Amino acid sequence: MKRRKLLKQLGFGLSGGLLLPHLLTSCSKDDPGPEVPYDGDVVVIGAGAAGMYTADILKAKGIKVTVLEAGNQIGGRVRSLRNQKDLVNLSVADFPVELGAEVIYGSDSIWGTNLKNFAVKTINIDEASSDRYLIDNIAKLAEEWDIDGDFVNAQNFVESLKNFSGSGVTVEQAAAGLPARVKALINSQVGNLYGSSNANVGMAGLSEALQARDHDGARLALKTNPMQDFLIFRFDQVRDLVQLNTQVTSIDSTGDKVLITDANGNQIETNKVVVTVPLSILKQNVISFSPGLPGAMTSAMGRIGMDHSIRVVIDFKKNFWGETTGWLWGGESIPNCFSAGVGRSEFNQTLSITINGPKAVELSAQGPDMVNTILAELDVIYNGQATAFVRRDFDTSGVLSIIQDWGKDEFIRGGYSYPMASATLEDRKNLGIPIGDKIFFAGEATDVSGDAGTINGALASAERVAEEIVKSITGE
Ligand SMILES: Cc1cc2nc3c(=O)[nH]c(=O)nc-3n(C[C@H](O)[C@H](O)[C@H](O)COP(=O)(O)OP(=O)(O)OC[C@H]3O[C@@H](n4cnc5c(N)ncnc54)[C@H](O)[C@@H]3O)c2cc1C
Repeated sequence: MKRRKLLKQLGFGLSGGLLLPHLLTSCSKDDPGPEVPYDGDVVVIGAGAAGMYTADILKAKGIKVTVLEAGNQIGGRVRSLRNQKDLVNLSVADFPVELGAEVIYGSDSIWGTNLKNFAVKTINIDEASSDRYLIDNIAKLAEEWDIDGDFVNAQNFVESLKNFSGSGVTVEQAAAGLPARVKALINSQVGNLYGSSNANVGMAGLSEALQARDHDGARLALKTNPMQDFLIFRFDQVRDLVQLNTQVTSIDSTGDKVLITDANGNQIETNKVVVTVPLSILKQNVISFSPGLPGAMTSAMGRIGMDHSIRVVIDFKKNFWGETTGWLWGGESIPNCFSAGVGRSEFNQTLSITINGPKAVELSAQGPDMVNTILAELDVIYNGQATAFVRRDFDTSGVLSIIQDWGKDEFIRGGYSYPMASATLEDRKNLGIPIGDKIFFAGEATDVSGDAGTINGALASAERVAEEIVKSITGE
């Protein structure tokens, strides 16, 4: 919160899109104006939430900025179905269907506050629905499980993650004492939710992040606007500065200026660069850096993971999982199974499933057949109703579904970052170490506010990096 107040005083983040054009064009007392005199320019790499917000803040400070994006659209891991071509596979989705970020965490978080400021309609998912929990293939509400000691112990474990003290332990190791029948439940509520599986996610990093988190944690969804539409609208002032289909392959800062080369061999010279690409892109050396990345950063990369991730959206002819069900937790192939239409759809017959980590690798190898694996698991829980009620193509009788395989997306290569067993928040900080006063890093993985792996984390990193750039210019 302190940082946010400071930024407000500095006049950051005032470029607010179409609703507030006067802020940038008028000479009112609210106009932030070109407060940072600078002859040079800045190139931001990546047009996701972090890159767009960084560019927005720098532009509002009067700094010349360009955004280079490898893909053919703005948004990164904020991607909504309406903006894609395969809309035809969903017939009853009368609400925004998300292929990436779906939930807004915190009504008073950075993203939550943005939505409020622009009067974008949201629903509070927890008020509109109740979660169900799967044990022994039975899905029940928390109050229905409350007499089951294993369920109570599992929920106590999940609720006390924040208070964990210790280091070098995975979620799986910390939960070793809990009975086998609640293992998949914990994996879905912790390991999968935080980006991978219980075997890979580390307790210390998770607990530190949850302690650092500074918002009310409410879970919201957009009522009518797709998330990607709002992101593009919010950063409308910098939309024209984005150069799409430009994959950066090398960044050379050994000379006076920084030399950026793209996959087509085009070169751009600039004074400063902000790299906001997903962590997996850096880990897989898609971009070569001269000089190389600092040792503290590459060492931190060994402790922060980013695993495979898949979103599968399936429409049914009937809601057989319960009209008021929000999430169903505890599945193996359906670890994060969200009744995405709840509180928003007249039909409420759509499931949105997010699978991360090793399970996502396994399902990805099945290709489109992964939908049958998912239906088979739902059939066991709901007595064959998934296969009975799934929508099928009229001609081929194939299941109609949308699969967004993020692990196979060339420019993303995974889901979102997570701490491994030995990671701490210090590692997140080290992922954001600048190289001299020329190369800066942002993006969700570099967030130290406790919101890494979310849009909030990406936006918080943009505020941090914009402040670093301004300081590198003013010398203050
Ligand atoms: C399945 C899934 C579900 C999620 N659910 C939620 C959720 O419910 N709530 C939530 O808050 N968050 C969620 N997230 C996380 C959230 O989407 C991300 O944390 C956030 O969008 C990341 O923003 P970013 O700007 O850091 O990175 P990105 O959005 O990944 O932006 C980076 C950009 O860099 C581009 N790029 C990559 N390589 C290059 C290159 N060489 N040159 C130029 N450009 C390049 C990419 O194309 C991309 O557009 C989810 C993510 C996934 C995948």
